[in-house]
Amino acid sequence: MKILAVGAHPDDIELGCGGALLMHAARGDEITMLVMTSGEEGPQNERSRMAEQHDAAAMLGGTLLWGGFPDGAIPNDRSAVNIVQDAMVTSGAELVYCHTPQDTHQDHRAASSAVLSASRRASRVLMYESPTSVTFEPTIFIDIGMFVEAKLDLLRAHVSQVLKNGLVDLEAVEAQARYYGFRARVRYAEAFASERFLWELPVGAIVPHSSTLLAVRA
Ligand SMILES: [Zn+2]
Repeated sequence: MKILAVGAHPDDIELGCGGALLMHAARGDEITMLVMTSGEEGPQNERSRMAEQHDAAAMLGGTLLWGGFPDGAIPNDRSAVNIVQDAMVTSGAELVYCHTPQDTHQDHRAASSAVLSASRRASRVLMYESPTSVTFEPTIFIDIGMFVEAKLDLLRAHVSQVLKNGLVDLEAVEAQARYYGFRARVRYAEAFASERFLWELPVGAIVPHSSTLLAVRA
């Protein structure tokens, strides 16, 4: 499956759906990440946040694309939609991950809005939560029990946010995964709200000569 994950800033994607992307990578899915800004207004390290994002993408074996918008000023117009549309074509996305639109950060709202417009014909769009999100009501959960530590490692790639400035709290990330795991009746999970999700049942579940199928053919 081909996956496109979109975030406003370096580290947003890993926080919101890093565990899911690790699962996708383990399945052999093709991952493309689109980061709309370089996060230049946030705390910086000696290495740029772009370099940190590059490291995280390399850990996932994903292709990294940049939106090129100024941090704090992702526009709410066609230019942002076009960037996402281009990324959807480049990636051939069959499943899109993006910010939930209910968020106090203007960039997260704008990125979400651009993705929801650009993916209006996509069959699968899942929205993830950020620390600045509000009224997030997830109904779809992905079991990330095998990848909790690996998710934390992905976040550690964002040294300037995690280790130096505490903007990303790894203890809280793990606790959140445990809590969502509890809600999903597994140990650890990531949680998503669904804009649209086409569920294709495995073909192996179809019994070729069942009376139901014959009845449908007739
Ligand atoms: Zn962000």
